[in-house]
Amino acid sequence: MALLPPTPPGIVGVAGRVAEPVDVRSADLRLGGRPLPVLSPARVYVCGITPYDVTHLGHAATFVWADVLGSVLRLAGAEVVTSRNVTDVDDVLTRAADARGRHYDEFALGQEFAFEQDMRALGVRPPTHAPRARHHIAHVQQLAAALLRAGQAYEREGHVFFRGAGAAASSGLSADRARELAAEFGDEPDDPLREDPFDVPVWRASGERDPAWPSPWGWGRPGWHAECAAMATATLGHGVDVLVGGADLAFPHHAHQVAMAEAASGVAPFARSRVQVGAVSQDGAKMAKSTGNLTLVADLLRVTTGPALRLLVLDRPWSQPWEYRPELLETASGRLDALFSAAGRPGWSPAASRAVADRLFDDLDVSGALDVAISDGGDAARQLVRVLALG
Ligand code: ZN
Repeated sequence: MALLPPTPPGIVGVAGRVAEPVDVRSADLRLGGRPLPVLSPARVYVCGITPYDVTHLGHAATFVWADVLGSVLRLAGAEVVTSRNVTDVDDVLTRAADARGRHYDEFALGQEFAFEQDMRALGVRPPTHAPRARHHIAHVQQLAAALLRAGQAYEREGHVFFRGAGAAASSGLSADRARELAAEFGDEPDDPLREDPFDVPVWRASGERDPAWPSPWGWGRPGWHAECAAMATATLGHGVDVLVGGADLAFPHHAHQVAMAEAASGVAPFARSRVQVGAVSQDGAKMAKSTGNLTLVADLLRVTTGPALRLLVLDRPWSQPWEYRPELLETASGRLDALFSAAGRPGWSPAASRAVADRLFDDLDVSGALDVAISDGGDAARQLVRVLALG
């Protein structure tokens, strides 16, 4: 974990207290329209990939925004600790590996390698922690046991189900819509074993072809939401400053992940703030592996640069859904050229640098920061190139 610079011993005796400017690099952020007082360490948990297919622009948007959030928190004076998981125990992955005649674990490692190459090309800084679900089986079992003891979960035929009705009720969705989403994300709300359609598995009994680990409830594997709850608390503790993921993860994934962590630890809120990045669509439909309606990062990197692709993602409000069109690449390249020209101009204005920082502190307003940097130029523009990692 990065630490603030060590401080010298305190001065004893007023004679030693000579006037000296003290650099308190500190600012508060607004995130999602609400203030987020910045304290170190700032712990950021990013819901990462399920490594069964290549990275598309929609994924890239989440991870680029998470990266910029980290940089902006650093600019505000925080030490930043990030954890971005890999969901390498998941039925979608097992089925994809099976279809190719591969072992899921070995197949996942190959996909992770490709993902990391894409992240490097996009200039996304490696996270402090990169937990993998298969390394946190014991943590999920501990979570299941704690939820059972607290009466927040129950066991049925080798499964441990978390009582999720509260998470669904507080999601702001209608019961019908919540049920639709639960089914879409594999939560099986119609499973007759469950006492309530919104109960979700912390631990699942494994069939013959599923990965399985021994547990007090028989051979089984972790549930998806429980994996993230366990990986987040194992790497960052019982609360995080910002929970990041695609907007489509808000329900059921984040809702249950948060509810499980809070019910097990008694620490609430689990996340002080959330960044749920707007979905990217194409040809009028959400970009998704499941539908094949997607543009791959690797393909875009053949026709443009990593920094231009970063700016394509960042030059808009993070929460806003948007539609990818190839001509947007030219607009992003144009903005990048203008920023580089501005950065090449001489000049140093603390007021302009502060104005750029203030735009970023206000809900990560990259577009606003770009406008100021391009118009004022000099050091303010160079600062923005650094913070957005465009150089
Ligand atoms: Zn997650």
